[in-house]
Amino acid sequence: MQDFPLLVHRVLDHAARWHGTTSILSRSVEGPLVRSDYATLNRRARALASAAERQLGLGLGSVIATMAWNTARHLEIWYGLMGLGAIVHTLNPRLFESQLSYIINHAGDQWIFTDLTFVPLFEALQDRLPHVRGFVILTDEAHMPAATTLRNPLCYETLLTWGDEDYGWPELDENTACGLCYTSGTTGNPKGVLYSHRSNVLHGLMCELGDAMALSARDTVMPVVPMFHANAWSLAFSAPLSGAALVLPGPKLDGASLYEILDMGQVSFAAAVPTVWLMLLRHLEQHKALSLPYLKRVVIGGSACPEAIMKAFVDNYGIDVIHAWGMTEMSPIGSLAVMSRRAAGLSPDEWWSLKLKQGRPPFMIDMKITDDEGNSLPHDGQTFGRLKVKGPAVARSYFKDEGAAAFDADGWFDTGDVATIDDYGYMHITDRAKDVIKSGGEWISSIMIENEAVGCNGVQEAAAIGLPHPKWDERPLLVVVRKPGSAVTAADIRAHLVGRIARWWMPDDVVFVDEIPHTATGKISKLELRERFKDHRFSLAPDDVQT
Ligand code: AMP
Repeated sequence: MQDFPLLVHRVLDHAARWHGTTSILSRSVEGPLVRSDYATLNRRARALASAAERQLGLGLGSVIATMAWNTARHLEIWYGLMGLGAIVHTLNPRLFESQLSYIINHAGDQWIFTDLTFVPLFEALQDRLPHVRGFVILTDEAHMPAATTLRNPLCYETLLTWGDEDYGWPELDENTACGLCYTSGTTGNPKGVLYSHRSNVLHGLMCELGDAMALSARDTVMPVVPMFHANAWSLAFSAPLSGAALVLPGPKLDGASLYEILDMGQVSFAAAVPTVWLMLLRHLEQHKALSLPYLKRVVIGGSACPEAIMKAFVDNYGIDVIHAWGMTEMSPIGSLAVMSRRAAGLSPDEWWSLKLKQGRPPFMIDMKITDDEGNSLPHDGQTFGRLKVKGPAVARSYFKDEGAAAFDADGWFDTGDVATIDDYGYMHITDRAKDVIKSGGEWISSIMIENEAVGCNGVQEAAAIGLPHPKWDERPLLVVVRKPGSAVTAADIRAHLVGRIARWWMPDDVVFVDEIPHTATGKISKLELRERFKDHRFSLAPDDVQT
């Protein structure tokens, strides 16, 4: 058989050659919606590669960073610079400045490609980035900031005019590194995950599979999930390799803007974290006349998806929901709750109980649950264990060999998640190992309490945390944000939870707050909540619980 190195720019070559006129619609940072296609993307990516080589001195192994929304320009940078042999490091603008300067210096970023949005951020930060040679601002001359103090500011569109659209990609080994993404680092410094051409192509193919996201050339795909968060869940690769059209939402991720672009772009498939979907659903609730005639499937992941969100899509709009799980270290997809032949025989209620789980691993992911000593645990749907994974798009180590404790000698990566796996093969995340509530020697799943609590009328968001307890080690505190106008009480929420969770899991207290803190990747910041409530005293006496 022929040798065919799995290189990401081959994905673009394929899309440009066989789906050249297929549309890419972006909401630009300057404002208007802009239409492009795969043939144009291919020409501009090659022009960028050639200009970056000639003008910026970039080549094999150079590391550059992007801080950019999901737009066609950002996609050109991924393909153009990865094709050149460089490593594209995506920066999450929601990180603290100290974390940003740490990761930019740690990665050794030479140039930063930034959207206009973030120019002020880098003007303030650049003195802490001694190795960054300059900044490419993703706009045209007409929109360049009149006066910027950025070091060596270059206009992206001008840079492109200096390049050659017929640039020929260099020969690369498929194991060449091409992408770098740091984990959000809720404890300690963020750690880097270095993706290769091969891992990105294999992961893109895996996500395209019928029993994963089932993408095809008949789809119009919108990655709402940012390209700076966990590789945009593969969609920058899996959509072009399937020939799907793309819609890129740019900087506007509020409910009204998402609705507008979903409708205008006739999006059939979209992927986002639950909080984003919540904003869209709220917008639809407020504007009853609106409908979603084009949208057929949505993927929800990044944190556990509450049943209320999944049911709203299925029951109110006839849209299928795929609950997915993964992490930066896995490129990121690890499992999807899609139907199997065996599951097809279940009653609708029984199927829903599987659909709400995080699902089955597709080909190229293996997973197991173990106890703390590393012994495999049964797939009985009851036994909780540490979730460990393997696969060609799973990290073998962190960048610069940090965090070695997460990888064992047999190649299993410890995800830090705690899960059950049932007899049907559906994995269910019950917690992060560090968030699980340890009460009387048993584990309480904070996520399961939260998911039930948000099903209670009047509850917008809920977070369960374990607080120290004199008798039981830890007991759950439930922190709740009410829906606007709601007067839901602690007693209402407790009454709702009766029968839905084990009696001894019942939160010892329910407190109401205006806002729950989130991390840079949109997850509830349990660390901050535990700190905020560390002096909280439970209202129930120690003996009232866990009997
Ligand atoms: P990140 O690397 O930022 O994508 O974060 C990965 C972590 O997010 C995982 O280890 C899980 O703890 C959590 N996560 C991702 N998807 C889900 C999901 N569907 N349900 C529950 N937790 C999730």
